[in-house]
Amino acid sequence: MQTHKGARSHQEFEGCTPTPKGLGDSTHMVLERNWEHQAPMYSRIYSRGTADYASTLIDLEKAFQLRDRRVRCIDEGTPGGIRLTGLGILLGFDKAIEVLREAKVEGVHPHEGCGACDLHAKKVCTETKPDEIGIEWGKKLAAELGVPYSGFISADAMSRPREGHIARAAYYDGTGRFDCTGSLGLPPGFVVSRRHLNNHVDYARSEAEIAITIALGPHGYGMERITDETPFMLVAIGDPADPMHSTERLMDELRPLELKLNGAVRVDGFTAPGRRI
Ligand SMILES: [Zn+2]
Repeated sequence: MQTHKGARSHQEFEGCTPTPKGLGDSTHMVLERNWEHQAPMYSRIYSRGTADYASTLIDLEKAFQLRDRRVRCIDEGTPGGIRLTGLGILLGFDKAIEVLREAKVEGVHPHEGCGACDLHAKKVCTETKPDEIGIEWGKKLAAELGVPYSGFISADAMSRPREGHIARAAYYDGTGRFDCTGSLGLPPGFVVSRRHLNNHVDYARSEAEIAITIALGPHGYGMERITDETPFMLVAIGDPADPMHSTERLMDELRPLELKLNGAVRVDGFTAPGRRI
């Protein structure tokens, strides 16, 4: 997934995943309900921008208080903690360990139906099921890091429908302490722990691109729903106390993704609460 290049990579990604089972009627209805539920938030986000929108959220501060430092996938269904696609399985073991050690990760949570594990399985041509790969990978990381293996997150325990993604945004977090579920007013979204990927910026951007690919693909809202009028939002979250991770700087990193997709992706951002330097 590190070589996604806009629409072309979108097709490549689809080619790497199993033939979509198709979203069942009930899943489809859940996705539709979620679309409607998020519609008022997005009408304000699209018209006012995320910075203005975020400034109206009285509980925004709570989105910057991690409840734990366990690593989870960027998937919107596994919120909280430190985030890395497939727990870093596409980054490689040594780099994943370096990132997770620096992030002071305290536990490891693989999840059911992880697309990154599925892609890894295809890359290395193994018959092992992606869920088993995820569990094995998680246990290997935990052992090397010397932290507990914190358990497998089943699809039923995830905060999204089993087969579908409801995220219309990916947060590109420059603070290292962001959890969108902390604030009631923030829409669900993928989270890229950009703050912990300073040595791997291209990879961080590729995680944002994976989020786009999923949202625009057969397991997300797709290109019928995500259009230039209702674009997928890439939301940079700047650290007010660190110019290296300013909103503007992170938005610049994301711009190449916006340019690729003819308006179906919009880059925006806001700065975390706190004193600016
Ligand atoms: Zn995953």
